[in-house]
Amino acid sequence: MCEFKNTRSVKIGGRNGIKEITIGGGNPVTIQTMWKEDIRNVKEGSEELKKTLLQINELKGLGCDIIRFAVPDMESADALNIISRNTDLPLVADIHFDYRLALECLKGNVAVIRINPGNIGKRENVEAVVKGCQKKGLAIRIGINTGSIPADLEKLVEEKKLSRTDALVQTALKETEIFEELGFKNYVVSMKASSVEETIKANEAFARISDVPLHIGVTEAGPLITGVVKSTLALSHLLKEGIGDTVRVSLSSSPDNEVITAREILHECGLRKGGVTLVSCPRCGRIGFDVHSFVDRWQKKLMAMNKNITVAVMGCVVNGPGEGKHADIGIAGGGNKAIIFKKGKIVRTIDAKDADKVFKEELETL
Ligand code: SF4
Repeated sequence: MCEFKNTRSVKIGGRNGIKEITIGGGNPVTIQTMWKEDIRNVKEGSEELKKTLLQINELKGLGCDIIRFAVPDMESADALNIISRNTDLPLVADIHFDYRLALECLKGNVAVIRINPGNIGKRENVEAVVKGCQKKGLAIRIGINTGSIPADLEKLVEEKKLSRTDALVQTALKETEIFEELGFKNYVVSMKASSVEETIKANEAFARISDVPLHIGVTEAGPLITGVVKSTLALSHLLKEGIGDTVRVSLSSSPDNEVITAREILHECGLRKGGVTLVSCPRCGRIGFDVHSFVDRWQKKLMAMNKNITVAVMGCVVNGPGEGKHADIGIAGGGNKAIIFKKGKIVRTIDAKDADKVFKEELETL
């Protein structure tokens, strides 16, 4: 028998035109990211709103299911309410310190309120948010980080009487008790640490005793490469054990990169099927084609395509088609020429300067 519990289902969205997603209960693992800009300039009918909606759609195209927005003040709450009324993607209001910001966000069309009980104050404040969400059919994420463990538990950690991992789990369980006492079941929990080991241990310990769905991720994971490494290690370990119902990769990089990383982790763990698989060679001294810049130009476009294909971008005509013969379509170059190949067979030989144009034409035939 599996040592970890099957999670219950939590419904998010599904009202006022927002896409409905079920988290947990064996449903597909969803991808989240976080908005990285101040949204206070977003007003009804503004250019900022148009730009924001465009970027939301791009993230959706890359495979993002849910986007979280920081709400540090009432102006941000108003702006998020506007954004939430103009997209069908489930949005999360991220609240710290002031529960009244959460209540303000209930006036818009967000799908989830994330609160950090460690800094939201008295139990009445948590209750007010829970009751508001209950009334409007919203979900809640209880988001706990190693940096916001309650003072009594933090003291035990400092005195080395309790591990930081156990402190995270105990904090989460204490909060879930409040939610259960209030009869509110539509919530998920996250326990995040910046260490891979603590993240894994805390989520494993929680999943042994609770059926509440888990949002998993490594917090403050670092710059692109470091963050990808840490997130991949922690998330792939947990996901392969069946732990984790929704994921966020936190990077000191763009939301696009967070979504692409999460998507690749899920794909490689066998939890997200389909889409474009991009293989590209690292380049070497045989290079006849600038693989790196071609990949930079095409990666996001390919990721946003609704095709189940493998695309190969190879540096030279000598080895490229052979190394990429499993690909549905590939491109390789040599000098002023480039070749397009399909399943290892050359279908076009073109001027290198036309590479993007011809590659696009051939891609559209698949
Ligand atoms: S495809 Fe060509 S350029 Fe790329 S790594 Fe292989 S041999 Fe080197």
